[in-house]
Amino acid sequence: MKSAWDLVRGHERPKAAFEHAIQSGRLTQGYVLSGPEGIGKQLFARGLAQVLFCQEPARDSLSPCGECPACRSFLGGAHPDFHFVQRDPGKRELSVDKLLGPKEQRGRTGLCHDLSLRPHEGSRKIAVINDADTMNDEAANALLKTLEEPPERAVILLIAGNYDALLPTIRSRCQVVRFDPLPDDVLSELIIEQGLATTPTEAAALTALANGSLAVAKHLAAPACRDLRQKMLAALSQKQWNGIGVARDLAAAVEEAASDVPEQRLLATWLLRAAVEFYRTALWRVVHPAVAAPGGIVEAVKWIDSLPLDTDAVVDWLGSLIERCLQAVGHLEQNVGVALCLEAAFADLARPMPGTTPVRK
Ligand SMILES: [Zn+2]
Repeated sequence: MKSAWDLVRGHERPKAAFEHAIQSGRLTQGYVLSGPEGIGKQLFARGLAQVLFCQEPARDSLSPCGECPACRSFLGGAHPDFHFVQRDPGKRELSVDKLLGPKEQRGRTGLCHDLSLRPHEGSRKIAVINDADTMNDEAANALLKTLEEPPERAVILLIAGNYDALLPTIRSRCQVVRFDPLPDDVLSELIIEQGLATTPTEAAALTALANGSLAVAKHLAAPACRDLRQKMLAALSQKQWNGIGVARDLAAAVEEAASDVPEQRLLATWLLRAAVEFYRTALWRVVHPAVAAPGGIVEAVKWIDSLPLDTDAVVDWLGSLIERCLQAVGHLEQNVGVALCLEAAFADLARPMPGTTPVRK
């Protein structure tokens, strides 16, 4: 890799804004890179840092040379004038220790101290503060002092998922650069590249739920979530199954896999969308028996092939099952409880096709 930009996807607008600022000599000292989690703000900050360090960058674009000593030491992770801090894993806040050093060494280490020193190599120092929106007041006030009198030629990039959570005094000393969620095509590509999905259909289903965030897609594609999906597909593939029982198992597993309610809703929605794909694959199989469904779900083909059904009626039936799943997705969006929503939906999905077997009472 010659350039940290190579890892950045999309974000042409902020890129153009920085290009313009650099070319016109109007780079300021404090920026907030603001936008949803998991869209590449941190990669962007690193790309920008390399350009600013590079001794022979291209004049008309944000392209570092990749060869000069500054580029080499940056890409090797050893540039002495690059400073990066973030919240410790498992912690809710970014503590003041990161900025001022631990208690016993207050002011003698930490980011603010490092920035106050002269640059070792190049002519500037660059600091990236990840999770800046989680700084507690003490940390924010420490940073504020540095932002009020920034060391000469220091550039401070704050990364914030929630811009409004930053102190107004910090916001007023930085220029905000807003980042959009990743476009669907870019996110789908990343999902396939990173092995989060193997088929375009699976990638599209993840993309549809991930709100333009690779972090959300990763969460949904985690092994626990995948197992959940497999469990559901196995149930849907049975000739007879207990809808409410399966729904209860799934709801319990969703609760275990996701810690908060919005996340649980997201997971349940993802499951229902996978159910939609299942029935769509089956529908495709009925309508185009000779052509494999693009990215179809194997279990769905086996399932529909095992049912001796007449075509017209089955098309209507599958259509109604798809509709039922989408209706449940709508209920989740309206904040209906996850367990209730899954139970009602799966009870309906598990009913035999009308007219095929007597309805059990
Ligand atoms: Zn260079």
